[in-house]
Amino acid sequence: MTDAATRTETQTDEALRADVRAWLAANWKPLPTAQGRIGGAGLFPTPEHRAWLAKVVDAGWAVPRWPTQWYGRGLSDAQARIIEREFAAVGAPGAGQDRSNLWANTALAYATPTFKAKIVPLLLKSEVGMCLLYSEPGAGSDLAGVRTRAERQGDHFVVNGSKVWTSGAATADYGMLIARTDWDTPKHKGISFFFLPMKQKGVEVRPLRQITNESHFNEVFFTDAICPEENLLGPLDAGWGVLQTALAYERSVMGEGARGPRSGVAEAAGEEPLIALAREAGVLGDPLIRQEIAKVIGYRRLNALNAARAKADLAQGTSSSIMSLGKLAMSRILHEEAKVRTMILGAGSLLEGPDHPRAEDANFLTLNAYFTSIGGGTDQIQRNIIGERVLGLPKEPEVDRDVPFRQVRGN
Ligand SMILES: Cc1cc2nc3c(=O)[nH]c(=O)nc-3n(C[C@H](O)[C@H](O)[C@H](O)COP(=O)(O)OP(=O)(O)OC[C@H]3O[C@@H](n4cnc5c(N)ncnc54)[C@H](O)[C@@H]3O)c2cc1C
Repeated sequence: MTDAATRTETQTDEALRADVRAWLAANWKPLPTAQGRIGGAGLFPTPEHRAWLAKVVDAGWAVPRWPTQWYGRGLSDAQARIIEREFAAVGAPGAGQDRSNLWANTALAYATPTFKAKIVPLLLKSEVGMCLLYSEPGAGSDLAGVRTRAERQGDHFVVNGSKVWTSGAATADYGMLIARTDWDTPKHKGISFFFLPMKQKGVEVRPLRQITNESHFNEVFFTDAICPEENLLGPLDAGWGVLQTALAYERSVMGEGARGPRSGVAEAAGEEPLIALAREAGVLGDPLIRQEIAKVIGYRRLNALNAARAKADLAQGTSSSIMSLGKLAMSRILHEEAKVRTMILGAGSLLEGPDHPRAEDANFLTLNAYFTSIGGGTDQIQRNIIGERVLGLPKEPEVDRDVPFRQVRGN
């Protein structure tokens, strides 16, 4: 039984598993080519994907950890994972959004009741495109230094300034925006967090060309852009706390969003990709290459074990410091893996283009590995976070921390 009336009933794991299996058997049909991770920046699923997501949300499988009045079932993490595993087993998307959908989780936690009622279902069903309006030319790692301003005028805010490296801005309907609303308090205390409507005259998006020759990034310029008051998340001037929640969600899923090769030329199925590549290139017997492949596999296994430990900690209700290692570990794995691909191909990796798909993949993965080591906070910043918040090391000196932002150099 999966109708709303029965969702709050306590079910055994077996009954829940049978329930979700039966529902999937009755409803799931593989969809046309996936358009990317659900809840990802600027990713637009096809109409078929959206129709499927709507079904998943309505049946209560999308966010089972959430309360029943918000499309959930109030389930424990362990039971929610049963649902995710059953969806994964048949390759169906849409489950586990209470873990992975950064936009919906941030809105659920902080949006005003009116805006929450409007936006949360749209986010869960991927009916709106989203982007992150955080980084600015002078504020990337130190986001507390943002200078884009939002000024209240009656029932709305007027936004002026600019952002950079905004993934998916060209197609987004809303951007999660941090902007300065008070210049006379220290930098962390005068920032507010908004869901800014992107499709309006005051927002101009200009694409940037990336090292991979793609253009997912943009510069975004605001000239008297309007943001309704109801789109403010959390209290005015307290956006720093909202941002910390949103960043934690982003970092926890960043590794999962990492892309694979893009040539589209299939690698040997079933075999570890690096071993298959080395076999194809005739270097599987090379001791140095074997050692490097083993290192990458070792890193991946270690990361999987750490992730399992973190999940076990969470299931027992304790927050896990191991969680903070995931993004950093994934960054190392992606760089190492790309390096080993290049080693395997040797001089052949200098080739490029459709006639050399393996080289194209190696080169793309080498360049794209920076996605995880810079996006969502750099590796260096992640190490600072681990040092200070997990290991309890002394905080990095910050001369402008307690100074009213207006007096900080550069203003
Ligand atoms: C793939 C990708 C997608 C992105 N998408 C978005 C997006 O959608 N929205 C958005 O707002 N931004 C986005 N960004 C921007 C990203 O968040 C920033 O690039 C990142 O936070 C670093 O900021 P910065 O580029 O200004 O570098 P800086 O902050 O100028 O850092 C430069 C260098 O100095 C180091 N550094 C800086 N401060 C310290 C410190 N205190 N201790 C040690 N080292 C330090 C950094 O690690 C880095 O190596 C994206 C970036 C990438 C790569």
